[in-house]
Amino acid sequence: MYDLIIIGAGPAGITAAIYAARKKMSLLVVTKDIGGQAALSGDVENYTGYQFITGPELALKFEEHLRKFDIALKENEAVQEVKKINSVIQVRTDKGVYEARAVIVASGKRSRELGAPGEKEFKNKGLTYCATCDAPLFAGKDVAVIGGGNSALDAALQLIKIANKIYIINIAPQLTGDPIMQEALKDSPKATVFNNTQATAIAGGTMVSALKIKKGDKEESLSVQGIFVEIGLIPNSDFVKEVEKNKYGEIKVNPYNETNIPGIFAAGDVTDVPEKQIVIAAGEGSKAALSVFGYLIRNSAA
Ligand SMILES: Cc1cc2nc3c(=O)[nH]c(=O)nc-3n(C[C@H](O)[C@H](O)[C@H](O)COP(=O)(O)OP(=O)(O)OC[C@H]3O[C@@H](n4cnc5c(N)ncnc54)[C@H](O)[C@@H]3O)c2cc1C
Repeated sequence: MYDLIIIGAGPAGITAAIYAARKKMSLLVVTKDIGGQAALSGDVENYTGYQFITGPELALKFEEHLRKFDIALKENEAVQEVKKINSVIQVRTDKGVYEARAVIVASGKRSRELGAPGEKEFKNKGLTYCATCDAPLFAGKDVAVIGGGNSALDAALQLIKIANKIYIINIAPQLTGDPIMQEALKDSPKATVFNNTQATAIAGGTMVSALKIKKGDKEESLSVQGIFVEIGLIPNSDFVKEVEKNKYGEIKVNPYNETNIPGIFAAGDVTDVPEKQIVIAAGEGSKAALSVFGYLIRNSAA
């Protein structure tokens, strides 16, 4: 029986673990990976203390900090269910069952799928959800980025350095990503933005060769070898059924990172806290661990 189990090792989970370790809690971190979305970010220019750092570099710094402490860590393990049985919280994964007096859910978000014909067939055959991981595979190629928000613009800006031509397929009337990224994009002759345009199908042979798009009644096929789907994120909150969530599936928390179930806390992108950023997730993770510390004292040897 642990004092605390932390689910996820992105910025929120890692920061929570560091705070919990410093409070000498008996602690287990269960996670599919280390770094979370931070490891997938391109250039990070808004994490305090680093004027510029890449996502993978920052994630590595987080990991080094985490490993300074003697923390029990289960990597490559997916949590499938969290439930409270009397005063104990049970965490079931694909590899085992663990118990703790408190849990912090810091499982972040994952990419939303497009739902267009061809998406499943061409996944990892030219179609990808991660520019940071896969952009280098498309050197000198023509590619499409689907989306118009920060993730899409981040992907497009990474691709500008590598690919030949970048089409940005945006369903909305205009791009919604940060103005600073929009300006950088405008300055590039490689990038073409299609607003009010839907990506309707992916075509190809063994690999992607075309993206079909539709604007009003007009349909056309873009010849591309790569497609980056960047149309938003879904919270990884399905495995915790009992807690209250908002209409987006984000776990509702109060300012102390408490959910409606005593002993189950949540932090970072998986919660309904406004704005999803590395610095915010890290701050929320620290706050959640400190709240757990208070909770354990209040509920000890009762
Ligand atoms: C392309 C991209 C660029 C970005 N750029 C920036 C930027 O420049 N600046 C900025 O501040 N933010 C940026 N962000 C946002 C930032 O990365 C997130 O806000 C932040 O990583 C959220 O941290 P988190 O710990 O809450 O969740 P995540 O980073 O999503 O981490 C979640 C963790 O939970 C684990 N997990 C998920 N499900 C399970 C499960 N069932 N069982 C076990 N473990 C699980 C994951 O493996 C992961 O370790 C970017 C995001 C993306 C996608």
